[in-house]
Parts: sequence; C-alpha cells; structure tokens
Amino acid sequence: MSVVLFLNGPVQNGDFTFRDLPGKAVGIRLAEVLDDALGLPRPPHLWNTVTLAGDLRHGKGSSSTGRREFEYRTLLGKYGSDLSAPARILTDVDTYVRDLALEMIDAGLSRGSLRIERTPVRECAACGHMIGPVATRCTACGGTRLCTRRTEHLVHDLPDGTPSLSGLVHGHNRRRPRHLEAVVGQVPRRLLLSRTRTHGIRLAPFGLDGLVLDPRTGVHVAVLAAARSTGAHEVAMTATAHAVAHVAAHGAGFTSWQGHRLRYALHGRIPYGALPSLEKPYLFHRTTDRERQVFETRFLPLVAWHNKGRTDPRQLPPLLKYFLKVHRSRPVTEDSERLARVREEIRRGGTSWVMDKHLLAAALAQTAERTTAVA
Ligand SMILES: [Zn+2]
Repeated sequence: MSVVLFLNGPVQNGDFTFRDLPGKAVGIRLAEVLDDALGLPRPPHLWNTVTLAGDLRHGKGSSSTGRREFEYRTLLGKYGSDLSAPARILTDVDTYVRDLALEMIDAGLSRGSLRIERTPVRECAACGHMIGPVATRCTACGGTRLCTRRTEHLVHDLPDGTPSLSGLVHGHNRRRPRHLEAVVGQVPRRLLLSRTRTHGIRLAPFGLDGLVLDPRTGVHVAVLAAARSTGAHEVAMTATAHAVAHVAAHGAGFTSWQGHRLRYALHGRIPYGALPSLEKPYLFHRTTDRERQVFETRFLPLVAWHNKGRTDPRQLPPLLKYFLKVHRSRPVTEDSERLARVREEIRRGGTSWVMDKHLLAAALAQTAERTTAVA
C-alpha cells in the first residue's frame, strides 16, 4: 500500500491564538497524530495568508513591515506551550507553492481547461476590489458605488457543469458524503480563479496584472506543493466538511499533479468550550497533567476524525473514561501486529480503530515516545 501523508488544510492566518481557539488546531493536531502513528516525521504546518482580512490588517498597521514578514509574525504568535511551532511552516505564497501554481496554470491553459478571457465582473468604483454578485457594498473599503466592468480573468469552465468529489474524499470509497456533494454541486459552472488582492500568487506572468490566484485554489496547490517537497505521492488534507464545501469547486483541476494526488480527510468539531465541565471527571479519575494533555490534544482530534460531525459535549466524560482505561493499559512494548492493522486502516481512511481499545492502545504506545518532544 502506498504511503499517505496527512497535512492540515491551510489555516487562515486570522486574529486568534491556539490557546483562545483550540478548535482551530484540530486539523493540525489530527495530521500530526496520524503521521505519528504511521511512523512519519512531524509534518509541516500549512497556513493560508492570502486573505482580504490580512490585506486590511496589514494596510492599517506598520507599512514598514513587509507583508510576508507581517504574516509570519502573526502566525508565529499563535503558537505557545500548548502547541509548539514545527520545524517547517509553509504558507500559500511560498516560492515553491507559487512555482507549482504557475506550472499548473500554464498546463491548464495549454490543455484548454483554463482560459484567459474578458469577462464582466462587479467591482468597487472607489478601490477596484472585486465584489460578489449579491453584495451591496465593497468588502475592502466599504464603498457603496459599485460598477460592472469587462476585464481579463483566469476562467475555469467546470466540465459537465458541476465539480465532482468522486474519489476526492479520503476513506469514502463506499459511503459518499452526499450533503457535501450537494453543496459543492451548487457552484456556478464558470469560475473565476483570479482575484483582486494585494497579497498572493501574482498572475502577471499570464498578463493579468494586479490579480492573484484565488486563495481557494491556492490552498490546494500549497498542499500539493508540500507533498511534492516531502516526496509523498498521496496526501490527505485534514479539513471539516464545511471548509471543503467552501474551497472544493475552486480546487477542481488542482488536486493532482505528476503522480501526486490530494484527497480530503474530513473531520468534525470538538466541543472545546465544554472542557471546563470535565474538571470533576478529571479529578475523580486522578488524571495527570500528561494524560489530560494527550486526551485533549491527541485523542480528541482522533474522535473528531471518527465522528465527522459535531461531538456532543455529553460524550466527553465517557470518552475520558474510555481514553484513560486504554492509555493506562497500553502495552509497554510495541504491538507490531496491531500497529500494522492501525496503519493500514489510517491509510485507507478507516476510523473504527479509534474506538477499539486494543488498536487504540497500540497506536498510543507508538506515539507516546514522540509526544513528549511534540508537546
Ligand atoms: Zn472598495
């Protein structure tokens, strides 16, 4: 079976820290724990920095700081003792992401799947920012004078009308995520992959001055570029169904390249806001700081992967009880037979092992050593 590398779906470099919003780290932690169980090195963390909010924040702040440095400084500020920064941090504008994006666009234009075409676009009369079809004011400057102008854009006419998620969701070979497919199926047939932004992968090499690659396309390229740089052929990008629904259409045609293939590893949400309700159960079970940390930062992301949807806060106490029982009885020596089964399941996207006490114990024993270094 081929190697599968798990990488986090690029996290938007917004105004938060992982301590304030631990839910933002679920995709990162899930990718780490799965790669760890597979015996792979700690994966790089991926960030989405091509955002309008970033354009506005940087514009307001110290303009003496370059945008890239500003983004790095902002994202590094999110890490702390609860989640340390990894050896490699990658953003969606890094050089090799840009190089791959230009290669892929070039190939798409040669093939005819992408076109540069004059097309009517609504924009702000004051600042020229592109506006969606239903917006009544400019999202960049707040201006209300809007106009429609025919300008050249990078256009992707989706084949057969709608993008298909067939084969793109990791672990859903038999059971397809119909709700997600329905949402993605509602996108317009013709997509513009170029945007007005001050920061991003510039499309000037294709004659589109002042435009950048749509960040929803860019996050796919970033994940593929990261996979290419590590030599992994199969990459599973951790993301919620909500996030995938938002980006999948713009990623159509950008999910495979020269033997590298991207799929979505869907996970649900963890009710981190309800963790204070676990104080009593923690005390009752005499939970150590270490156990608590492994439960919250390694086991719960696996639960989010298994559940796919929202985990009910009322499930937390029984999940803690189950976790402690398994964690405290995990084998001291490697259980290679069970570990091999866990790895096979992870590679094909199977999650039932998370709720199998013997298989989970084998996985936890494997990751226990490295967790110290990670935490
Ligand atoms: Zn404007």
